Amino acid sequence: MSETFASNSGVALVCNYDGLVTEVLWDDLEVSAPLADQSHMACLFDPGSVQKALGLIMQVKERGAAFGWELNVAGAGNPRPLNFEAAVVGNRILLLASATPHDESRLYDGLSHVISEQINSLRALSKHKAGRGKGKRAETELSSHFTHEMFRDMLELNNRLVNAERELARKNGELRRLSAVLRKDLHLAHRVLQSSGEAVVVTDHDRRVVDVNQAFTAITGFTKAEQLGTVHALGEPGQHPVGFIDAIWDQVARTGSWQGECTGRRKGGESFPRWLTVSAVPDDSGALRHYVINFSDITRLKHAEERWQRLAFYDSLTHLPNRVLFKDRLQQAMARARRDIGPLALLFIDLDEFKIVNDSLGHDAGDQLLCIAARRIEACVRQADSLARLGGDEFTVIMHGSPSESDVLHVCEKIIQAINLPFDIGGQSVRIGASIGIARFPNDGSEPDTLIKNADTAMYAAKSAGRNTSRYYSPALGEDIARQLKVKTQIAQGLQRGEFTLELQPVVDLAGGLVRSLEALLRWNHPERGPIAPDQFIPIAEDSGLIVELGEFVVRQAVQLARELRSDTWPQARVAVNVSRRQLAAPGLADFIVGELDRCGLPGSALIVEVTESMVMSDIDHAAQVLNRLREAGVSAAIDDFGTGYSSLNSLRRLPVEFLKIDKTFVADVDVSRESESIISAISAMAHGLGLNIVAEGVERQGQLDVLLQVGCDSAQGYWFARPMSLDKLRPLLGRDGRLRKAAENP
Ligand code: C2E
Ligand code: CA
Ligand code: CA
Repeated sequence: MSETFASNSGVALVCNYDGLVTEVLWDDLEVSAPLADQSHMACLFDPGSVQKALGLIMQVKERGAAFGWELNVAGAGNPRPLNFEAAVVGNRILLLASATPHDESRLYDGLSHVISEQINSLRALSKHKAGRGKGKRAETELSSHFTHEMFRDMLELNNRLVNAERELARKNGELRRLSAVLRKDLHLAHRVLQSSGEAVVVTDHDRRVVDVNQAFTAITGFTKAEQLGTVHALGEPGQHPVGFIDAIWDQVARTGSWQGECTGRRKGGESFPRWLTVSAVPDDSGALRHYVINFSDITRLKHAEERWQRLAFYDSLTHLPNRVLFKDRLQQAMARARRDIGPLALLFIDLDEFKIVNDSLGHDAGDQLLCIAARRIEACVRQADSLARLGGDEFTVIMHGSPSESDVLHVCEKIIQAINLPFDIGGQSVRIGASIGIARFPNDGSEPDTLIKNADTAMYAAKSAGRNTSRYYSPALGEDIARQLKVKTQIAQGLQRGEFTLELQPVVDLAGGLVRSLEALLRWNHPERGPIAPDQFIPIAEDSGLIVELGEFVVRQAVQLARELRSDTWPQARVAVNVSRRQLAAPGLADFIVGELDRCGLPGSALIVEVTESMVMSDIDHAAQVLNRLREAGVSAAIDDFGTGYSSLNSLRRLPVEFLKIDKTFVADVDVSRESESIISAISAMAHGLGLNIVAEGVERQGQLDVLLQVGCDSAQGYWFARPMSLDKLRPLLGRDGRLRKAAENP
């Protein structure tokens, strides 16, 4: 039968599972009839390919499909190599050779030709026999032989051939339709496979590669030839956590598929991220035939994802996790703490005076400081603890693993110390502090939001306690903070409603008994709560930023009072205003004061600003700058509460200060305590050396005054001379020369 094959193009064969060819479709090879009549498939191939052909059949039987099998078809001339693809179709095997256009009618032409040839040869035979005999007997012999048997046989054969031809045509038509669909599907599948941007690997059930597509080669660098027959392992040892790959195969075995991220390796050895799908492909009977593994290279996607994650979950300035990621981590940490590892602590860190740096040195400086602060805090916490920046100057730390109270306080202390170190911002040395609130889980809150809120509350308590310290949360703190919040709104309202006024208290020169100046002290006449002392609301106003507004009110009011006094009572009147830390730090204080003086037509000497020792020492450069600007405008400065902070002579020398006010805690017992007496005497000796005037605060008794005179104080202020009072009450007590008449109600 091999000679019936010409060297020609495509062929489609339908075989049964035993490799018996049941139909041959569209071949324009001259296929003989017996071939369509159950020939063994192996016979179609030349001896060199028979073994391979059997392998192909085996593979198709076992795995349902085979691709890219090159077999030599037996033929009259040289064996013709054809590329076969095979698939199981129902209970048959469909083999498709890479087909070229074919002419199915040639099959029928061929068959008709055979039939007519046979008929013709029979006719010729009978004529020949008739011609040769010439005699009656011979003719009878011949014709009886021909007409009766041969012709009947011939007709019968002809009929059979015609019927067979019809039947074949019918079958072929039917199969052609079937296989057209299948062939289209198979080719489509193949085309899809090849043209897919995703790498596709088809393996047998032993995970041996039977096909890979072009995308696979493009992505990995491995060619099809290198892969065919190798076991596809999904990944290489060491690329994944132990058990990862096994877990994938386990899931595929259980559910039929797996999908997820899985690192791959290129031929060059480079790893790359893949989005991988592994599917098990069973045959009709449910038996596992193949695995189809497809994946895409998600390197770019990962980069995009990373970038997006950085933007969405990390603070672009400090590169620390942001609020969103922090909350997620807190939630997870709390869930884990609930399950096994026990309590955790949440630290809420707020930088003290950061706003001042930001306002005075600019945002770039502020940003620089935040970055350095972030790195310093980072260095104070364990790797396992998560640090985040919530925004502004707020940071949080989640301390895992049941930290003890002393562990937590130790970390807080470390952070505060680290933040206290000077920051070098553009060549300028800046100092700030940190206040830390601590909330514990589960004691101080079982929900993330509650825990954050309570740590925040504790942070506020730390700030109220003088900053640069840490505080544990307690429910009582919450009430405190709530009260403070209420006060803030009331201060704002009070400013609008004119509930704030200034009282004046004289500072008296000890030698001549004349009033040197009047200190303006702020009073809040609350409509419901009555008069509220400044100690009660100044720190709250300072915290909330309202102090700037309040401070401007004080300056405006003090300048107004000085003008009134100068015009109708005491032409030399000088009024001292207290300036808070935040006011001093905010840009524009000096300009504002000078502007107000100008507006009222007053000289700078009508005003004195009082700043505390600790305020100026925390940023001496800035303080010197502001005070110098004021000094140029004739405004004097006093260092308030002197002795309560730490200051060096050198620092004092740098500041343009006229007065040093000794804190009343030293004055309080100066007449009974040798120690207080010697402190004040040392201070005045030093101050006089610098050319400063000494003012003793809080003088209530004659005894104190005696000692103060002895140790060289220049002036004094206190109930002994006059309580702070309104301008209206003060006016009748003041002489035009500044002499103070003792009021009857003045003890
Ligand atoms: P300070 O600047 O040290 O003001 C002196 C305080 O001592 C005043 O308290 C005054 O009433 C009180 N005082 C005066 N003589 C005596 C005395 O003989 N014995 C005693 N025990 N106390 C005396 P006040 O008015 O309650 O002010 C408290 C603090 O509030 C002030 O301390 C100052 O730091 C702050 N403050 C007051 N007014 C303002 C203001 O307008 N702005 C700012 N930023 N702070 C202010
Ligand atoms: Ca003062
Ligand atoms: Ca004072």
